[in-house]
Amino acid sequence: MKNVVVLGSTGSIGTSTLKVAEDLPDRIRLLGLAAGNNAELLLEQTRKHQPQAISISDPAKAKDLADTFSTGCDVFSGPEGLLKLATLPEADIVLIAIVGTAGLQPALAAIRAGKDIAVASKEILVMAGEIVMTEARKQGVRVLAVDSEHSAIFQCLDGKPSASVRKLWLTASGGPFRNTPMAEFPAITVERALKHPSWVMGRKITIDSATLFNKGLEMIEARWLFDIEMARVDVLVHPQSVIHSMVEFVDGSLLAQLSIPDMCLPIQYALTYPDRVVSDRVQTDFPKLGSLTFESPDLERFPALTLARQAGEAGGTLPAVLNAANEVAVEGFVNGQINFPQITDIVRRTMQQHRVVSHPTLPQILEADAWARREAAIRR
Ligand code: NDP
Repeated sequence: MKNVVVLGSTGSIGTSTLKVAEDLPDRIRLLGLAAGNNAELLLEQTRKHQPQAISISDPAKAKDLADTFSTGCDVFSGPEGLLKLATLPEADIVLIAIVGTAGLQPALAAIRAGKDIAVASKEILVMAGEIVMTEARKQGVRVLAVDSEHSAIFQCLDGKPSASVRKLWLTASGGPFRNTPMAEFPAITVERALKHPSWVMGRKITIDSATLFNKGLEMIEARWLFDIEMARVDVLVHPQSVIHSMVEFVDGSLLAQLSIPDMCLPIQYALTYPDRVVSDRVQTDFPKLGSLTFESPDLERFPALTLARQAGEAGGTLPAVLNAANEVAVEGFVNGQINFPQITDIVRRTMQQHRVVSHPTLPQILEADAWARREAAIRR
């Protein structure tokens, strides 16, 4: 039985995590649940799963929830609340599925408290991969991947060192505009960008999948999770999203992990690792799938991949700048302030203006993040 804390329980990954917990009542106990704004869903989840503690961003909403659960459940709020949940003494593992950067400090707090972490929020490793992985090694805790691509690579690597790897191949569906001519990009609407061909996900990551910034962030995430330089991390477009990623070893052998797309699978693996636990949820029918196809990404139409490679290679504060500028630009696109290609333009121009700090401290990373948000907002 593992005591699990879920930060971001009301989101796409969070609700899938609760489904996994419901599938495995003998293996997973939900100890803590944290939400952003959705008090109604948090209330419903709390009634159903009876966690020891919950947290919500707004203190007023926390007060209402505390009045509802006068005994048996501690209610916290704001960033402090996330830290409380991440360090609950009985917690074994903290799954972080908060969109944006709010998950970084709780992730570090959990590691320092000796908890394993399961990371969905890729922003954490993109911004502070060096600090997070160094701290995890120091504390002897695991950083487990929830992203399907990184879960796949983790399973294929099976403990092999990076010296045995020729290349990590991250697969990408290619997003909804894989075949859209570049001339049509300025006319892309938010509605079209939010229609992902293979996955149902939160809004931010769905737009990132359309620009391919999501894959760019995943390249940097892989660089830190698997302690491998960017030159050995590559992307392959695979529209069916059945091969979740691959490892090419130095002897030329390739291992891949496959299934129909369903986030419950990597979530379950992270929460039950190192065991494989029976579940009927995912069934892959190859004759029905027919064929699996592959193509190289088009770097001209999707420059996000090149920008992410540059940020990952430069390291230091540049990945945090890329991440923050992208968040601001995506918000601008969703609010109708800029068009689709301008998302990438804003990120590029913000990166060009940044003076990189190598091996930054956490305050320097947070400063670079705040700077990039201001710079990107001016350009929006
Ligand atoms: P959603 O937008 O669906 O959910 C985001 C979650 O974060 C919600 O529970 C939201 O709460 C919560 N939240 C936001 N801000 C705060 C805050 N300040 N404090 C506490 N909670 C907060 O996103 P996804 O589930 O799609 O994605 C979450 C993360 O996982 C992202 O980093 C994404 O890149 C990553 N990821 C997602 C995948 C997917 O399939 N969806 C796949 C792989 C990675 P509320 O709704 O109550 O406001």
